[in-house]
Amino acid sequence: QYQGLAGRSTNEVLQLYSAHGQQQKLQRSSVLTQLHGAIKKRLQQDLKSLHSFALELSKNFQRQSKTYLYQVLTAVQGIQLQNEAMQMFQIKAVDLEQSLQEVTERYEKEKQRRRALHNSLVELRGNIRVHCRIRPLLPFDTAAGHSISQDRQRNFSEKVAYAIDDETVLVKCNRPGHASINKTFQFDRVYSASESQDTVFADVAPLLTSLLDGYNVCIMAYGQTGSGKTYTMLGPQLEENFAFSTEDESELGIIPRATQEVFRLISEKPPGSYWVEVSVVEVYNNEIFDLLSKDSYGKAFGVKRDVVTTREGKSNVPLLTHETVENACEFLHLVNKGIQLRVRHPTLVHAHSSRSHLVVTLTITAIVSGDNSGASWEDEQTRGLLKEVSCTFPQKMRDNKSTSSSGASSPAQLEATEKLKQVKTRLQLVDLAGSECVGMSGVTGAALRETSFINRSLSALADVLGAIAEQRSHVPYRNSKLTHLLQDSVGGDAKLLVMLCISPDQKYLTESMQSLGFGTRARQVQRGQVKKKNFPGQSKAK
Ligand code: ADP
Ligand code: MG
Repeated sequence: QYQGLAGRSTNEVLQLYSAHGQQQKLQRSSVLTQLHGAIKKRLQQDLKSLHSFALELSKNFQRQSKTYLYQVLTAVQGIQLQNEAMQMFQIKAVDLEQSLQEVTERYEKEKQRRRALHNSLVELRGNIRVHCRIRPLLPFDTAAGHSISQDRQRNFSEKVAYAIDDETVLVKCNRPGHASINKTFQFDRVYSASESQDTVFADVAPLLTSLLDGYNVCIMAYGQTGSGKTYTMLGPQLEENFAFSTEDESELGIIPRATQEVFRLISEKPPGSYWVEVSVVEVYNNEIFDLLSKDSYGKAFGVKRDVVTTREGKSNVPLLTHETVENACEFLHLVNKGIQLRVRHPTLVHAHSSRSHLVVTLTITAIVSGDNSGASWEDEQTRGLLKEVSCTFPQKMRDNKSTSSSGASSPAQLEATEKLKQVKTRLQLVDLAGSECVGMSGVTGAALRETSFINRSLSALADVLGAIAEQRSHVPYRNSKLTHLLQDSVGGDAKLLVMLCISPDQKYLTESMQSLGFGTRARQVQRGQVKKKNFPGQSKAK
């Protein structure tokens, strides 16, 4: 094109340019028009499909939201229904809870009534109350190295004795090669391993009220060594010579608690109308030792004493030391001193095993007026005692002679009026020696002798109970010093509570069965109604 232009004039060139430009413009505009048309068409198509897509989407959306809404509605309705049901259940639960509480209360009341009736029956028949305490499994139950028997040496620990309710013990044991045992025993009260010293004492406390109402009371712990007798009667024994751990009062056993309770009850009475004496006796190898006696230098040492039967048929230990005490502290101090003299022999079963029977006696003397009607044997007996009243009265009272002018506590006045009498009731607290069988504890020599004495005295106790149960005319109290000493308590002149102590471990199955058998037999003993002495300001029999 440019070569062609070489020979032309400027005008021509300009005209050519302009024509060319217009041609190009025309061409471009027609292309543009075509393009525009195509784009427009395309856009219209896209718009149409977009529109139909949007329409479809919105329809879908509407459909789905309807479905979801329906689902949400159904769920909300479900929740509402559930809520209503829940409220109904709650109301029902509250109702049930209330009725359960009512039933429990009724049950408790019924149980108490039944207990009270049972207690009255026990009183009337003169039954021996038997409580059974199952101690917890303890580390020494599993300790290896017991040279007991082959069978027992195995280092296992398995519970076989259970408190299934507060009156029933279940012994259940399935050992390969042994007859399986599944036996229940009923007692007046059964304590499980978790029941505290407090709970045990709460059941004992009413007996102490009886004591001040004029009844003799005896509480005796029976069971094999290590089963918790001393724990139950005294509390945990920290060291060989340490009887009461005063640091933790909740751990104290029956003896310290009973003493505190007796002094508390006395403090509610008119001052000077009661006084308390203590004696601590040990029965070891069928000999009675007075643990409060002192030598001529005032040093404590256990003197051998004898037990005799008085003309009235009561057992008595002549010359036995009775110390007057003013409060629980003094009492426990003396008991502690007595216990320190107690003969112990650490057997292999339990290092602190006591190889003797311990009898702590708390005697309460009250002054009563002579015209009190319904005199019992003790009143008659004390008539004789009155003649020597000035020497049987505690030292403090005798010392008061010249100064005292306050009523009954003056022996001088007593002798002058002859109308006043002293009446004694006695609380005997007995921690028996272990009831395990000979041969079990791996003891030999002197210790074997001890064990055989223990076994003899305990079987004498069982024989005595058997004779009373069968109402035989002769009861062999004198077969053993233990039964002779406890004759009055066991033979019907006291409310007697036997606290059976049981080790729950399988190792001690034989001993536990033996103890449970003893308790069961003791429960069957009927001794006739227990006699009551006439105490001042007497309330009704408990
Ligand atoms: P026992 O006088 O019958 O030979 P112990 O009273 O000395 O037996 O008891 C043996 C051990 O078991 C002691 O260490 C004692 O503290 C412990 N024990 C006994 N009964 C219980 C109990 N209920 N709870 C906790 N420990 C106990
Ligand atoms: Mg003991």
